[in-house]
Amino acid sequence: MPILLILFIVLFIGIVLHKRRKPCKWERTGGHGELKEFTCKYCNVTAFSTQYDGPPDCKRNIKDASL
Ligand SMILES: [Zn+2]
Repeated sequence: MPILLILFIVLFIGIVLHKRRKPCKWERTGGHGELKEFTCKYCNVTAFSTQYDGPPDCKRNIKDASL
């Protein structure tokens, strides 16, 4: 039963997909109060977040998924 082989393949695909996902580099551009404005240096997308290090996901990915 090649269960170990299947597990290995799934794990390998997971690692490859994880490495391909380029993390965004958010630069704070403005905003006041709780909501801060960020711009992704890689995708040039503007997003708002309450966190100091920017939104966790890139808006570009969300846009691609909806298309
Ligand atoms: Zn981005």
